[in-house]
Amino acid sequence: MPRPRTDSATGVRCRRSNGAELSTLLTKEGGKPRIENLDEVEWCAACFQYYAEIARNSHGSSIPPTAEHQINFTIKEPLGVVAAIVPFNYPLLLLVWKIAPALAAGNTVVIKPSELTPLATLRLVARAMAHFPPGVVNVVTGGPDVGAALVDDRDVACIAFTGSTAVGSRIAVRAAEQLKRVNLELGGIDPLIVFDDADLDVAVPGAAWARFLNNGQVCTSAKRILVTEKIARDFTDRLVAHTRTLRVGDGMDPDTDLGPLISERARIRVEAQVARALEQGATLLEGGRRLDVGRGWFYAPTILTDVQPAHMVVCEEVFGPVASIQVVKDADEAIARAAQCEYALGANIYTQNLTWALKAMQDIKAGTFWINDPLTDNDAAPFGGMRKSGMGRELGEEGLDAFRETKHVHLDFIPERKPFWFPYRRRRGEIPA
Ligand code: NAD
Repeated sequence: MPRPRTDSATGVRCRRSNGAELSTLLTKEGGKPRIENLDEVEWCAACFQYYAEIARNSHGSSIPPTAEHQINFTIKEPLGVVAAIVPFNYPLLLLVWKIAPALAAGNTVVIKPSELTPLATLRLVARAMAHFPPGVVNVVTGGPDVGAALVDDRDVACIAFTGSTAVGSRIAVRAAEQLKRVNLELGGIDPLIVFDDADLDVAVPGAAWARFLNNGQVCTSAKRILVTEKIARDFTDRLVAHTRTLRVGDGMDPDTDLGPLISERARIRVEAQVARALEQGATLLEGGRRLDVGRGWFYAPTILTDVQPAHMVVCEEVFGPVASIQVVKDADEAIARAAQCEYALGANIYTQNLTWALKAMQDIKAGTFWINDPLTDNDAAPFGGMRKSGMGRELGEEGLDAFRETKHVHLDFIPERKPFWFPYRRRRGEIPA
């Protein structure tokens, strides 16, 4: 995620005009702390600005021709109707990553928010999209059946989807029947390696933030923490101590670090995943229980150690506040384990060692590789996953091209009969040129 925008003169965080209202709605419908939702609204505005800027300068290119009196160029054309299907965890941000480039490219959009978090989306569209001509920005609310209807609709040219890998792969199959364009941003089980030389004053709170941000309901959460045995004890003790300082509660309370999980179903699933990890031999160091701190599906930030690569807790995505620690012998084992995963969304490391950093960068498949600063996105840099984490990219110029076709235009400005046309007898000199 990008950083909050700061005024360079005053150092004061900038807020947009509807930020207060939208962030409150986001917290009330999804539970995420309001301070994070204020950031989310800011990131949305920054993303709209980014695409407003680059779309003006990006409309194709001129290509050197291969013969005289010819001109070649490309123009970028919109696809048509884009369906934007969005999950619950960043309802506005992941929407804007789709509709800002889609609209900048000249498409119309049909938005399908998560059935769990539709309200801020409806308000954003009512507030910010009213100046578009009727029919350019559309919203339909509902659950999986509504999303599936959009995927199947013959008037929809492109599906921009963020959500689980299971649903994404179903969408890919359906869309393939009509050879529709798909952009799929799916699940992740990202590694975070803490190497021997890491500054634990930074790596410990960094790892806690990378795993517990938005209650662990982030696609790029550090769902597999790998730490070398030399520093494992120190790291885990400090992570436990730091985690105990985190406040779980109502997202509207400015002191809250972690809100509730999105639903009762989500909490039951996380509980089952932790129970299975313990059955498989993991050790519970912290949390592992429900919390009764108000209205909502609260679950204590949890730390597991003695996790092994085959444990389900690191083989399937845990969308909740569960830090799973694997202790490894050395840097090579850390990198090898981090690289072994069916998912490849992001990867994080903490080190100052250039060799380890670059070896990890080379060996680990990931759409984004973060060194010493987990989970920080940049509107101008592509975001997306490899392997089961998706196909296609959002953000950056690639995120704009996801919503455009390229048309090559070939122009000959002196029309003439070409010597290589029929009849071929002329090419052989059997008839006059
Ligand atoms: P989900 O897959 O359950 O739902 C996502 C959206 O798809 C919702 O709007 C839902 O109504 C819709 N949907 C469900 N079934 C559908 C179908 N058959 N056809 C069309 N639409 C359908 O995901 P979720 O629980 O809302 O979000 C959590 C998941 O999203 C996690 O796996 C997380 O990793 C992933 N995610 C990925 C990214 C990324 O950028 N890679 C970002 C955020 C979340």
